Amino acid sequence: MPHTKLTKPAMGVFIGGLRTIPHWNHDCDTCVWLQSRDEVDLYYCPDGGPTIIARTGAAPEAYASGMTHAFSNPYLALAYNSAKALGLLTQATINEVEGRWILPKESK
Ligand SMILES: [Zn+2]
Repeated sequence: MPHTKLTKPAMGVFIGGLRTIPHWNHDCDTCVWLQSRDEVDLYYCPDGGPTIIARTGAAPEAYASGMTHAFSNPYLALAYNSAKALGLLTQATINEVEGRWILPKESK
């Protein structure tokens, strides 16, 4: 087992087949953990934008983030869709993110 997995909790992380806690330690108390997929922890953070985060490891810098990557990074896409389904995103945020890709915008 790779060393990086040592930070993972070993017990009690599954209830009814569903993961109940993230894989990795995360350094933001404001973040809302959405779910994990393929050992990537997905978060919505109301601060800093708001933004969405895909943490891939225990190192502080081991993450990708940004609403603007919601349709280019598959994990951030999942985070975006989860946050949206949970009602965490404002309509203004949804319009901004989806309008960026669905509606051609003039660059200024
Ligand atoms: Zn956060």
